[in-house]
Amino acid sequence: MKERLGKLMPCPTCGYRTDTNSAVGPMPLQSKAGDASICLRCGQLLLLELDMVGLRFRLPTVLELVDLRANPTIEQLLESWVSAFHRTPETRTA
Ligand SMILES: [Zn+2]
Repeated sequence: MKERLGKLMPCPTCGYRTDTNSAVGPMPLQSKAGDASICLRCGQLLLLELDMVGLRFRLPTVLELVDLRANPTIEQLLESWVSAFHRTPETRTA
């Protein structure tokens, strides 16, 4: 079951608004800066960062993207996203 505890924020790639605390796993989740996410609309890998107004999504740098893609859990989530939406995920970087 999905709980919605976070604020809605736009994906920097497609603008789809999602909350910061949706997760595959135990809930409730308290998201923090540095956590990774995947946009449900475009499949873009995202990172949370803390700025002057709070948490927001940003695109990973190339090096961060390499690290994210080396994580088996991230790869499994991307494969699940592709299976669900039958599209190639976005691979933009900052
Ligand atoms: Zn998106």
